[in-house]
Amino acid sequence: MGRALLAMHKSGAYRLAPKSLAGVGAIFMLHRVRPDDGAEFAPNRLLEITPGFLEETIATVREQGYTCMTLDEAVSRLAARDFSKRFAVFTLDDGYRDNLTEALPVFERHGVPFTVYLTTGLPDGHAEIWWVALERILSAAIAVHVKLPDGEIAMFTRDAAEKAQAWNRIYWALRALPEELLRAEVRRLAAEHGIDMAALTRELAMSWDEVRTLAAHPLASIEAHTADHFAQAGLPPTDARRDIERGVERMTAELGRRPTHFSYPYGDHGSAGERDFELARSLGFRSATTTRKGLIQPAHADRLWSLPRLSLNGEYQDRRMLEVLLSGLPFALGRRLPSLGID
Ligand SMILES: [Zn+2]
Repeated sequence: MGRALLAMHKSGAYRLAPKSLAGVGAIFMLHRVRPDDGAEFAPNRLLEITPGFLEETIATVREQGYTCMTLDEAVSRLAARDFSKRFAVFTLDDGYRDNLTEALPVFERHGVPFTVYLTTGLPDGHAEIWWVALERILSAAIAVHVKLPDGEIAMFTRDAAEKAQAWNRIYWALRALPEELLRAEVRRLAAEHGIDMAALTRELAMSWDEVRTLAAHPLASIEAHTADHFAQAGLPPTDARRDIERGVERMTAELGRRPTHFSYPYGDHGSAGERDFELARSLGFRSATTTRKGLIQPAHADRLWSLPRLSLNGEYQDRRMLEVLLSGLPFALGRRLPSLGID
């Protein structure tokens, strides 16, 4: 995808895109913000950007005339079909500690509001950051044996290339499983390879005291992202509802405020569908965001519970790509050219 975006930038094609494609605003999706540690095998790097690129993104959207505003204000304007200001909203999923230590100072320096969608099982200590656990397992191991219902995957992981191959195979094989089985297998692998998953959560995620520090900051708002971060669409309706409600109850108890916006765990087509959009609406959220890629169009005023976002992907930390994405052209083309990897 990166090369296609750079080609569009170089040719200037994106500047000729109809203005309507750029829509009425953008909701940026981030996860972690921290300096690049230079690791060669870093399959989760797409989930993190550097403080410097966050800075550059804020500068770019402001130069392009966007107004940085809170999620709540953007949703209000969208619902009222007030498109007088093109908005940029920054959201960070899950609740990583670096949101407080690395991202907040950048947002503060520029006076930019932002939302953290919190998985309450992280500060509570029972949610698992299994994708980072898997990365650490493959990083340290020279071979892995993954047990799946339909057989075993055995692969060498001796160098970065083998680790990357193993990741591509194993990550997607696990993602295809019912999530309880996925979690159980990563737990088993972690135990086998000496990775302490509870310690990993404490290392990477905010504690409740840290969440409260963030919640008290005038630029920050904390919104809902379930208790255990299960893909909603894979759960029976009562379990899906329960994971959202447990998160809301815990946030209300710990923060003294009931969240009013929601983001779907994983948030892709397979993880959140029409049933889940209806559930978020019926639970009283003012909006819900997916990880479907796109800019906000006027028609989203009627679809506040399935809002697309623009991912700030750590693999593509390049201002030129951002400019092309904000033109809306890649998303319009992506509908016709799935090979672009944009849907
Ligand atoms: Zn998430």
